[in-house]
Amino acid sequence: HASRRSGDPVRWSAALDQGAVDAARLGAELRTALDRGQFQVVYQPIVELPSGRVKAVEALVRWEHPERGLVSPAAFIPVAEDNGLIVELGAWVMRIAVLRLATWQRELGDLAPERVSVNVSPKQLARPGYPATVAAVLTEAGLAADRLTVEVTETAVFEGGPAVTALYELQDMGVRIALDDFGTGHSSLGLLHTVPVHTLKVDKSFVDNITEAGRHAVIAGALIQISDGLGLSAVAEGVETAEQAAALSRLGYRYLQGYHYGRPVADPDFEVVRTVAGYS
Ligand code: C2E
Ligand code: CA
Ligand code: CA
Ligand code: CA
Repeated sequence: HASRRSGDPVRWSAALDQGAVDAARLGAELRTALDRGQFQVVYQPIVELPSGRVKAVEALVRWEHPERGLVSPAAFIPVAEDNGLIVELGAWVMRIAVLRLATWQRELGDLAPERVSVNVSPKQLARPGYPATVAAVLTEAGLAADRLTVEVTETAVFEGGPAVTALYELQDMGVRIALDDFGTGHSSLGLLHTVPVHTLKVDKSFVDNITEAGRHAVIAGALIQISDGLGLSAVAEGVETAEQAAALSRLGYRYLQGYHYGRPVADPDFEVVRTVAGYS
């Protein structure tokens, strides 16, 4: 079935919306799922312009439920955050992703992505010792810290002191920090002088209507200027069409991510280099 092959979870909203499965039961199921190895990590390319090469990959977790099929992280991450399982699940994702990058770099050399990007929940960041667990995984994999990007949202910073302290420790180690969903309510300009940041991930909502030359294009243009002005790198998320890619490249974006370049999959093929719209 196509969506399974592509690594796109079928939105499992019906049961949740109807309250047929409550959060407590889902939480217990997540525990079992972790013990039984039902989680999987998929990887989506982040492509560099104009070369079209896969510069980095973002690791995204999937739950292969024995009856429901692939369950969306949007359905279970919030539950895992509430019941605390996110600490263990997040550490598992981090370790798998970092080890995987090390394997690619060993086996594929120059063809391998330079970095892996991992989503980190506020609850994980705020746990004492989080940077130390990241350091241990990097050591186990034999990877330099600058091969890892942690993606965080504004919520992480609003959780208070410990999460911000952890970000500074990660930065001191050499780990890169990306602000996810940048430009939405989840991530705002105020953060740029509150936390260490290296990359802005410009939210899909600004990419969606970018070809209409209206407000979205203006905002996407302003965001890349802020990013350039502050010496950060910017990744445009949710690029689905060649037209969007061309519009983004005209605005000055150099890193694009979205279905146009590749869906999240268990085994990305880095040899497939796409013709990049806007360049020839
Ligand atoms: P996110 O970090 O903003 O990840 C991007 C989401 O957009 C992913 O959904 C990805 O599959 C999807 N996407 C990428 N390109 C396109 C596109 O061109 N069009 C459309 N329509 N969608 C696109 P996914 O994998 O379902 O993940 C949803 C969210 O769940 C993520 O949003 C992230 O917040 C969270 N998540 C996923 N994996 C993890 C994890 O390991 N840890 C934590 N804490 N959160 C995770
Ligand atoms: Ca992300
Ligand atoms: Ca995002
Ligand atoms: Ca998001």
